Amino acid sequence: MRIRADVADLIRAGLPVREIAARAHVSAKTIARARRALQLPPVPTGCAPAPSLRAYMTARTRRTPDGHLIWTGPISERGPRVRYGHREGSARTAWWEITHGRPPHGRPRPACGIPLCLAHLTHAAPMTPPVAPRPARIDPARWQQHGLCLHPDADPTWWDQDTIATANGRRAYNWCLDCPVRRNCLDTTLRDEAGLRPSQRQGIRGATTPDQRARLAKKARRS
Ligand code: SF4
Ligand SMILES: [Zn+2]
Repeated sequence: MRIRADVADLIRAGLPVREIAARAHVSAKTIARARRALQLPPVPTGCAPAPSLRAYMTARTRRTPDGHLIWTGPISERGPRVRYGHREGSARTAWWEITHGRPPHGRPRPACGIPLCLAHLTHAAPMTPPVAPRPARIDPARWQQHGLCLHPDADPTWWDQDTIATANGRRAYNWCLDCPVRRNCLDTTLRDEAGLRPSQRQGIRGATTPDQRARLAKKARRS
């Protein structure tokens, strides 16, 4: 089916059917056919409004077998858009807030390269941690709770990197440098990794990469 470009644009912009019909002089049937051709779900009619933004957005996504979550709601030239209650804006930002419980830094974008995917969003995360007051006392038995990797602005996946050549690896390293329990963390990690081969060590810990820790362990064995 051939879809008029202006109709497709109005549909993707998320305008109500009545408004599209008035603006483009087309019938509701044509709009419904165009939605099907664009592989968008039909506009729900007579349904109760979604009870929450999460429910509203979930109803407008499609999970693919390989784990992407494709937005099927309104789209503008700026990307997926959400209109719910008084909220009108980026669907990526709204989904980030829903899934992370806080706003993103800057505009989230899909790390997987699929423009409408909401499952793999990344944001312009800070390269260095915010200046935070140092804890007055650190209980050696509970040092982990002071780790900067638990900070709400940090993404734990940064510490999964094995190198500081990537932006996230560099982020983890920078945050570790400022961490008040860096020494505890490094000592504990070296103990936990005792006997492991370099390839079995994983992640940035205590501002070190797995290779650096393997070298530190070797040096300690020799001395
Ligand atoms: S040194 Fe790094 S990995 Fe260890 S607790 Fe601190 S931020 Fe987390
Ligand atoms: Zn994806």
